[in-house]
Amino acid sequence: MNKATDIKTLRHFIAGDWADAESGATFDVLNPLDDSLYCHAARGTGGDMQKAVGAAKAAFAPYRNTLPKDRELWLLRVAEIMEARKGQLLDCLIDEIGSPFQKAMFEFEKSLTMVRAAAGMCRNVRGETIPSDAPGKFSMSVREPLGVVAVITPFNVPLIKTSRLVCNALALGNTVVHLPSEMAPHLSVLFAEIVAEAGVPAGVYNVVTGLGAEIGDDLTSHKDVDFVTFTGSSLIGQHISEICAKNKTPSTLELGGKSPTVILADVDLDEVMPLAARSIFMFGGQACIGSSRFYVERPLYDDFVKRFSMVAGKVGMGDLRDPNTVIAPIISERQRARVRNHIADAVAKGATVAAGGEWEGNRCQPTLLTDVSDDMTVCRSETFGPVSSIYPIDSYEEGLAKANDTDFGLSSAIFTKDIDKAFHFARNIGAGMCHINGPTIHDEAHVPFGGNGESGVGREGTDADMEAMTELKWITVQL
Ligand code: NAD
Repeated sequence: MNKATDIKTLRHFIAGDWADAESGATFDVLNPLDDSLYCHAARGTGGDMQKAVGAAKAAFAPYRNTLPKDRELWLLRVAEIMEARKGQLLDCLIDEIGSPFQKAMFEFEKSLTMVRAAAGMCRNVRGETIPSDAPGKFSMSVREPLGVVAVITPFNVPLIKTSRLVCNALALGNTVVHLPSEMAPHLSVLFAEIVAEAGVPAGVYNVVTGLGAEIGDDLTSHKDVDFVTFTGSSLIGQHISEICAKNKTPSTLELGGKSPTVILADVDLDEVMPLAARSIFMFGGQACIGSSRFYVERPLYDDFVKRFSMVAGKVGMGDLRDPNTVIAPIISERQRARVRNHIADAVAKGATVAAGGEWEGNRCQPTLLTDVSDDMTVCRSETFGPVSSIYPIDSYEEGLAKANDTDFGLSSAIFTKDIDKAFHFARNIGAGMCHINGPTIHDEAHVPFGGNGESGVGREGTDADMEAMTELKWITVQL
């Protein structure tokens, strides 16, 4: 599909049918490796969004009454069809968003677990019996689906986010309108084909492609949308949270990060180095939970910088289909400009480039900065590229204080053999997630995934979405 001869035009998936944009307009989706045309996609309008929300609302009444065994079967079929269409999904992850093969494989495998875990939720939508002070009153709670769920996903892990959020919503009896990133619409269109093939009833899952800035508000402010789950930048998350607050629409926001890794002097650097590299360079640093700040205890600092720089220089930047390639192209010119600016600003203000700093086509070399100070943009803002800063610390306490000196609070990590310090860190870091002796990049289907502060509100995962995407109803019976 990335070849000029068979470039496609993607259409919306609404009420079980494929549809052009109401206006007939399309937009271009580019292959980030060389900015060649990957495909065209329907440029959704407010009218298209209206139709999609209408379809999801109409489908909700019958769908909420489907049996757990039906929803479970549909979702297990989604996983089976994903496996059958693995090659196509991998190609899409590689050519639409520039995933290196190993990241595409990781994402595909992780996504399968997300879908299967969602299937397991269907039989576990439970309330409880509640003691009553009223004589002869039997009191209970039941968990009910909310209705129409708006799912808004980013470009960087489109299959993971789609699999988790769409399937969790469907498992619980909700219907969905999905606005995928304008840089990754094909992946969601493929997912819609899979959902349809699995037999999920028409109107239960709807995809509208388009530019978020043009049609996002039509979705999030729609009176028939009962829940919004947004993953993306903190800037747009702020805008969406204001809309949701005004309309009293519940939401979860999974936003950006500036995740710290603290490395104490008692660790074996041979063990830490590959994990440090994985923490920031995977998919060219375009990971919300990537570690863009390393705080290293002074006795190890020089050695760490030297060894990390050597590792960075060897990270694979070859063909995206080569299993050894790690570094991805930065997705768009706008995002490349941000990464360039962060590096240039740091260098202009006195930072040292310990590794990388240059570009090969649309790929930024794995870049490590030292001598980074507070007035540099890279110190506090999300770079979303293969760029990390290394800071010396004189004690664990200084490391914790510096790790906490941020507006973000997504993932975090500490490497040490000292169990007391490790647990103290885990309990006192102001992040939603903490990994002891492991990289900041880690996710599983059933864990509470999410962050605090500028990194978002709420958690996602099977248990968290059970809470977020259903409502408890209290019922009594006077006996
Ligand atoms: P982005 O904020 O530019 O776009 C995300 C989505 O928002 C896209 O689908 C876009 O079309 C849509 N959008 C744009 N304007 C909108 C509006 N007014 N209303 C509704 N939707 C609108 O983010 P991106 O560049 O695609 O992704 C990168 C960002 O996502 C980074 O900040 C990264 O940290 C974050 N992210 C967070 C997580 C997490 O779980 N916390 C996971 C992945 C990515």
